[in-house]
Amino acid sequence: MNILITGGSGFIGSNLVRLLLAERPEWRIVNLDKLTYAGNAENLADLAGNPRYRFVRGDISNGELVAELIRSEHIDAVMHLAAESHVDRSILSPAIFIETNVRGTQVLLEAARELEVKRFLHVSTDEVYGSLGPTGFFTEETPLDPSSPYSASKAGSDLLALAYAHTFKMNVTVTRCSNNYGPYQFPEKLIPLMIANALRDRPLPVYGDGMNVRDWIHVEDHCRGLLAALEQGKAGQVYNFGASSERHNIEIVKAVLRLLGKPESLIEYVKDRPGHDRRYAIDAAKAKRELGWAPRHRFEDALAATVAWYGEHRGWWERILTGEYLKYYEKQYGVR
Ligand code: NAD
Repeated sequence: MNILITGGSGFIGSNLVRLLLAERPEWRIVNLDKLTYAGNAENLADLAGNPRYRFVRGDISNGELVAELIRSEHIDAVMHLAAESHVDRSILSPAIFIETNVRGTQVLLEAARELEVKRFLHVSTDEVYGSLGPTGFFTEETPLDPSSPYSASKAGSDLLALAYAHTFKMNVTVTRCSNNYGPYQFPEKLIPLMIANALRDRPLPVYGDGMNVRDWIHVEDHCRGLLAALEQGKAGQVYNFGASSERHNIEIVKAVLRLLGKPESLIEYVKDRPGHDRRYAIDAAKAKRELGWAPRHRFEDALAATVAWYGEHRGWWERILTGEYLKYYEKQYGVR
C-alpha cells in the first residue's frame, strides 16, 4: 500500500506517520505538507533516508501537484489531515480556513476521484457538532451546528467528503475526534501552552471562568482509530473517537501546575474566547462496535507523560516560540 498523508508534519500527522511505519511494515508513506506555522519538519527529521517515507512540501489546494503525486507515487489511499486547526486563529483571520479546509479538501477529493484512488479517510473534529449542555454526548447522528469559523470550515469539508461518497460512490470515510494531547502538539493549544508557560514561570492564561469542558484523548489512541477506520470503516460513514475523559479546562491547568510543582498563582483568567463552546463529550460506541477500537491511555498517566515529554524536549518548543508565534500571542493575550 502507498499512502498519501496530508498534514503529516503537524501534531497528529507526525504521530500518525510514526504509528503507520511501525504497525504496517509493508506500507510506504508520502507526506504532503505545506509547512505552515503549525507544520514542523523537525517532527519527522529522523526519518530522512527511510526508504518507506517521502516528504513533499506543497499545498493541498494545488490540484496539479496533488494529481501528479497521486499518479507518480501510485497512491492507494489518502489520509487527509492537513488543515488550519486553531479556533482562536480562525477568529482572527477566517479566510485561510475556508481556502485550506474547504477548498483544499475539495481539490484532494477531486484528484482522488479522477485518479480512482481506492480509499479516502477524511479526518475531522467533534467541534462540528457545536456545544453541549451539562449532559448528553455527541453521536454520529447529532446535527452539525458549528460555532467558530474553524469548526464551520471543518463541517463544510465533512459534507463535501460525504457528498463525494454519495454522489460518486467513492470509498470515503469521515472520522470526528475529540481534543487530542501528546507529544509534538503546537504550543498554542491548551495543554502544551500551559506546560510551556509553567516551565518558564509565565502567567497561564485561562479563558472565562475556566469551566469549559473538553473530552481529552491521547494522540496515539486517535491515530490507532484512524488506522482502524482506514482499514475497516465503511464508505459514506462517520465514526466518532473519544476516550471518555471529560475535564474542565481549569482542572487541566491545575493538574499541569501540580505535576510541575508550580504555584496556582500563575493562573491568570483572561477575557473569554468569543462564541466559546461550553462542553464537548463524545459517544464512541460505534467505533468500538464496528472498528473494534478502544482507547488504551488513561488520562492522568498520559498527561503526566506528556508534561514530562515537554520538559525533556524544551529545545523543540522553544524554537517555535519565536517570531510569528510571539506576534500571534501578543495579539491574542495582550502580552508577550
Ligand atoms: P496541526 O495544526 O498541528 O497540523 C496541521 C498540518 O497541516 C501542519 O503540518 C500544516 O503545515 C499542514 N497544512 C496546513 N495547511 C496546509 C495546506 N494548505 N497544504 C498542506 N499542508 C497544510 O493540526 P493537528 O492538530 O495535527 O490536526 C490535524 C487534523 O486533525 C486537522 O484536520 C484537524 O482538524 C483534525 N483534528 C484535530 C484535533 C486536535 O485535537 N488537534 C482533534 C480532532 C481532529
